Amino acid sequence: MNAPRMPIESGVPDPFPYMHPTLKANYGQWAWHDRPRPGVLHHVAKGGDQVWTVRAGTQRQMDVHTIRKLMDIADEFADGYVRFTIRSNIEYMVSDESRVNPLIEKLESEGFPIGGTGNSISMISHTQGFLHCDIPGTDASGAVKALMDELHHDFTHEEMPNRVRMTTSCCQINCGGQGDIAINIQHTKPPKINHDLVANVCERPSVVARCPVAAIRPAMVNGKPSLEVDEKKCVACGACFPPCPPMQINDPEHSKLAIWVGGKNSNARSKPTFHKLVAAGLPNNPPRWPEVAEVVKNILKAYKEDAKDYERMGEWAERIGWPRFFEKTGLPFTKYHIDNWRGGRVNLNASAHIRF
Ligand code: SF4
Ligand code: SF4
Repeated sequence: MNAPRMPIESGVPDPFPYMHPTLKANYGQWAWHDRPRPGVLHHVAKGGDQVWTVRAGTQRQMDVHTIRKLMDIADEFADGYVRFTIRSNIEYMVSDESRVNPLIEKLESEGFPIGGTGNSISMISHTQGFLHCDIPGTDASGAVKALMDELHHDFTHEEMPNRVRMTTSCCQINCGGQGDIAINIQHTKPPKINHDLVANVCERPSVVARCPVAAIRPAMVNGKPSLEVDEKKCVACGACFPPCPPMQINDPEHSKLAIWVGGKNSNARSKPTFHKLVAAGLPNNPPRWPEVAEVVKNILKAYKEDAKDYERMGEWAERIGWPRFFEKTGLPFTKYHIDNWRGGRVNLNASAHIRF
């Protein structure tokens, strides 16, 4: 009899083969840790072993030469082991304190800042952008690079009231996360439909099913099967564009950036929260996105000056009240900040049906 066909495991890889030997030997046996300086973690095991972790910022989307350079540094100045954090920082582990400073000097001389620990602004986590995704309305990684250039001091120093975790997202619907500050694309007009292409490219029933407010209907246009959008209902979410590229939603003028504040994933001190919209309609203005940088820096300045120690951005805004938040940050509060849409009860496609 043939051997049974076994599933191919393609989940998270086993981390142990790639783990620093001191980490492997002391797995689950750590006694305490501290941070000797911004960007360096120091862990002491119950048996006395010690390990220093040096964290450096990267631009995340890296060419092969930069990756080789980072790996050469690991071989020469660390113990040959690295790991990437979820925010695209790279961490080098060494089990000998005398190796910490030469490693830091080498990384800094190559242009990789040391920081991102404790109450700093760590690297902004961002979505894939044009490199790996087919539906972005902006280049998340470019906005991140431009902004982190301006926030370099706050990456390398731990001077914030608490950690600041920022995110960016290059479309409205998919892989962005919650953040103390989130910079997300915001479409402001319904999609423009190329009726000549819809019949050949789109599976119309799944596009109709995809719309969260049931604004899409099948239609015949110029004798061809196509789709039409009820523009009064459309909330310009962009969900119809991925399964139907002829429904173009990205627009150089009308795709804007919005800033959201106060999201957090952790349970520490207060429960996890969703971020809230504080600025909308900012121009999507590459290559440096100066309007976005100005708003973000204003929010950070007000938070740094006014929040109590260890208060996260959202906790601070809730304590002082959102009207005071707008006063302190100088952001205008407009009618667009009020979520008064009642259509959800009758309109929102709220079935538990999973659609792809
Ligand atoms: S946020 Fe949207 S556009 Fe950006 S990578 Fe994720 S799915 Fe693609
Ligand atoms: S899926 Fe979104 S963008 Fe497309 S028609 Fe519906 S509401 Fe408008």
